[in-house]
Amino acid sequence: MTYKASDRLAGKVAVVTGASSGIGQGIAIAMGQAGAKVVINYHSDAAGARQTQQQIEKAGGEAIIRQADVAKPEEAQELIEAAKEQFGAVDILVNNAGVQQDQAFLEMTLEEWKKVIDTNLTGHFLCAQAAAREFAKRQVKQEEKTCAGNIIFISSVHDIIPWAGRANYTAAKGGLQMLMKTLAQELAKYKIRVNAISPGAIKTDINRKEWESEEGRKKMLAQIPYGRIGEPEDIAKVALWLATDEADYITGSTIYVDGGMTLFPSFSE
Ligand code: NAD
Repeated sequence: MTYKASDRLAGKVAVVTGASSGIGQGIAIAMGQAGAKVVINYHSDAAGARQTQQQIEKAGGEAIIRQADVAKPEEAQELIEAAKEQFGAVDILVNNAGVQQDQAFLEMTLEEWKKVIDTNLTGHFLCAQAAAREFAKRQVKQEEKTCAGNIIFISSVHDIIPWAGRANYTAAKGGLQMLMKTLAQELAKYKIRVNAISPGAIKTDINRKEWESEEGRKKMLAQIPYGRIGEPEDIAKVALWLATDEADYITGSTIYVDGGMTLFPSFSE
């Protein structure tokens, strides 16, 4: 995964959760190659985190690695502290960490429910709060065309598309939608921008079983009017742009990056 090295985020510090694989890895690399200093968070895949770091360093960038479970308050806080200690500040939080634990609703255990809600919703709340408390200390005048800090949630098209067998996942992503909007509204006075990117089907570990089989791929493509399964780069490019001042007037928005999955493709014929 290589992006054109640039200075679009020079002088900025980004924390990216779940950055040892998939979409988070793509975003961390894109931001690092655009000049941001990056805190690469991983949960269990240290080797994946090192790969992310190597890609950033190859482009002349700087990144550190921190293990943390975003669902644990003190560990979420430590990610923000690490950015401050190592790089002197934090400017961008990409709340990306996420899991799936699929189960028919009638069979779903409280543990399966909690696992997904804890990581995909509570973990995002904890990291956002830790970052926002830092951003809120900054004095940026309302009329300036730059922000005091930037929070990007990686949500999902399943913040609006129901998905049988994944009540935990859709509830978390639907919850993120209102968490994002409420934070955008509440934190605008501090000049903190808060937005979400909702990916469609992107080739990563989370859905590997589906896109690796011919039948699974066909099923996925039937849901994608644009006719291709997405790659982490498709999301990373949007996240990078959203983190720059080019997107300064955008807050409280969800950008669907989904090849048209949210266009009700089954109605196209
Ligand atoms: P992935 O499995 O490659 O990445 C998920 C990452 O989150 C992993 O690195 C994992 O270690 C990390 N993680 C899990 N629990 C964690 C915890 N408690 N603390 C810290 N990190 C933790 O899959 P991905 O597709 O790259 O997923 C990234 C995000 O994108 C998720 O929020 C997912 O819901 C969302 N998403 C993915 C797709 C897709 O099609 N791939 C579509 C929509 C949304």
